[in-house]
Amino acid sequence: MAYGCPRCGGKVSRTYDRGSQEAAGLIGLLLVAAFGPFDCKRCGSIEFREFPAGARVRMVLGSVVLLVAALALVALGILLVIKAR
Ligand SMILES: [Zn+2]
Repeated sequence: MAYGCPRCGGKVSRTYDRGSQEAAGLIGLLLVAAFGPFDCKRCGSIEFREFPAGARVRMVLGSVVLLVAALALVALGILLVIKAR
C-alpha cells in the first residue's frame, strides 16, 4: 500500500518501531500497519490524521481486510490442530 504525502505529495512509508513490534506480536504489527505513523523522506513523520479523509478510509479498510485475513489464518490453524488430534 503506497500513499502520497499530504504535505509534499511524495511517497510515504510506514514507520516501524522494532521494539514495540516484537513485544506486541502479530496483532501489534497489524495495528501498526493500520494506524502507525508514516514517514516521508522530505517532511519526516506524518501523523495518520494529517491524511485526507478519503486516504484514511482506504487505509482503515485495507487494514480491516488484513486483520480479517490474519484472524481467518489463526482460526484455520486452530481448526487444523483440533482436527489433527
Ligand atoms: Zn512529504
